[in-house]
Amino acid sequence: MRITGGEFFIVTLPLRRQHTWASNTRVSIGRHALVRIDTDEGVSGWGEAPAMATWGGPGGVHYGETPETVVHLGEDYLLPAITGCDPLDIAVIHDRMDAVVKGNPYAKAALDIACYDAAGKGLGRPVWALLGGKFRDGVQLAHSLGLLPMDECVAEARTAVAEGARTIKVKTGHDAQRDVELVGRLREALGPEIRIRVDGNEGYRTVHEAIAVTTAQQEFDIMLCEQPVAGDAAMAKVAAGVSVPVMADESAWTALDIVRLHEMNAAACYSLYVTKPGGLYRARQQADIAAQYGMYSDVGGSIEMGIGNAANLHLATATRNAWLPSVCPVTTVDGAAGPSVAGVYYVDDVVSEPFGFRDGVVLLPDGPGLGVEVDVDKIRKYAE
Ligand SMILES: [Mg+2]
Repeated sequence: MRITGGEFFIVTLPLRRQHTWASNTRVSIGRHALVRIDTDEGVSGWGEAPAMATWGGPGGVHYGETPETVVHLGEDYLLPAITGCDPLDIAVIHDRMDAVVKGNPYAKAALDIACYDAAGKGLGRPVWALLGGKFRDGVQLAHSLGLLPMDECVAEARTAVAEGARTIKVKTGHDAQRDVELVGRLREALGPEIRIRVDGNEGYRTVHEAIAVTTAQQEFDIMLCEQPVAGDAAMAKVAAGVSVPVMADESAWTALDIVRLHEMNAAACYSLYVTKPGGLYRARQQADIAAQYGMYSDVGGSIEMGIGNAANLHLATATRNAWLPSVCPVTTVDGAAGPSVAGVYYVDDVVSEPFGFRDGVVLLPDGPGLGVEVDVDKIRKYAE
């Protein structure tokens, strides 16, 4: 099977509500680049890049892409470089992409996902099998609240839990007093069984503020504290000053970031993405190195549509140390049954079938490739 070409799209899905966090209070989620690659055997593969200009890491080492940069680099550099390749030759494909474009992992991830989808469909095997087999059938849902007024947070968390969510993720890092009070109110409203995790998105101004807030939140039993401050040195100081595990997200893009976080004792765990390292192939390399250090992860992302979310679920189920509750959406299709709030950020999608959600677990769509059927009418409807 050989890649013969492909097509890029920029698609915007309708939102259930706005979703913001400390480092992004302006740009709306849900405007992503999609790609379809075609092969000489008539099999196509789909990929997605939820690129955002405001998303990056500390020190300017990792920085924002946009749907437009993904389309430009994809059409003019990356896709031409891998045309003629077998999509199963994924190491060669990454080598070719890296030879023509430095960085820009989200653009590369979109094509990497499309290659895995096409290769799996060609072989009649799911992507999880190409990644080494699956350890679980789905991912524990963490329902993400975003930066909302406190009353709305509590009300939405109650609904999400009533619909089956067992973990709530709270966006913090905006106002220290609010961040402590909100976690207290959530614990009171949700009871002792529900897990609560917090994500500061580098929002605290000082190490002392981050330690003070996290220490106060620990009174209400939080499972972990994600990226409270920017930079690995500051993260290491917070990690030394609190008792809950500190998770790296903005600080953990590549395999080398994992090595540095470990050497600096800056994080116990990290947020594994398909996109930050540059695709499923690179994500597995990163996760395998983390495992050597005893580090574990969730599978995070940027509220992917059904294509990218399927890639997240294949990665999460095929990666032994990616077991933490994760913000993988419950992909929802307009008019279909399913939860209305728990794991739901968009009210429609570009795939034909909604994803399963049972006992607090988002279920892996199983089938050849990513296991999803793309609805090209929906792409036409929501494309620019
Ligand atoms: Mg995060």
